[in-house]
Amino acid sequence: MDVVTYPNPSLLKKTAPVDVVDDATRAKITEMYDLMHKSRGVGLAAPQVGWSVRLLVLNPGDDRANDEVLINPVIKKKRGRVLGEEGCLSFPGIYVQVERAKEIDVEFTDATGARRTETRSDFVARIIQHEVDHLDNILLLHRMTPADRVRVKRELETLAERG
Ligand SMILES: [Zn+2]
Repeated sequence: MDVVTYPNPSLLKKTAPVDVVDDATRAKITEMYDLMHKSRGVGLAAPQVGWSVRLLVLNPGDDRANDEVLINPVIKKKRGRVLGEEGCLSFPGIYVQVERAKEIDVEFTDATGARRTETRSDFVARIIQHEVDHLDNILLLHRMTPADRVRVKRELETLAERG
């Protein structure tokens, strides 16, 4: 398993809901946790590893006890707006300002298969909104201001050339 980078077509492939959370699913989730930490990321969405399902993992820090998976997540409510810097493992070296909701209510299935709704705010809310974007094939590129697109044009071209 590897992180695919822009413009890999996996990032724009339609995602399917996860039907069952079985051992095979859990094994892949564990692989995603490992890859996220190895890549020094705080979140990873399934399409970024070429897996076209609605699943994401996150951990804002280094403590593996805080590894978390959100399966079939749906953002039910958004409150407040806040601008903050964002990067993406699929756009290495590129950082841009993105406006996100400050707080969200997110409904998801957890690793045990239970469906629940939780309120998340600030950095974690930002991570979840970024990763849910991936599930809808919305990339950092699409969230950039026109000025940022110009500013990172060269980096984007380099990524495109590397294919
Ligand atoms: Zn990303």
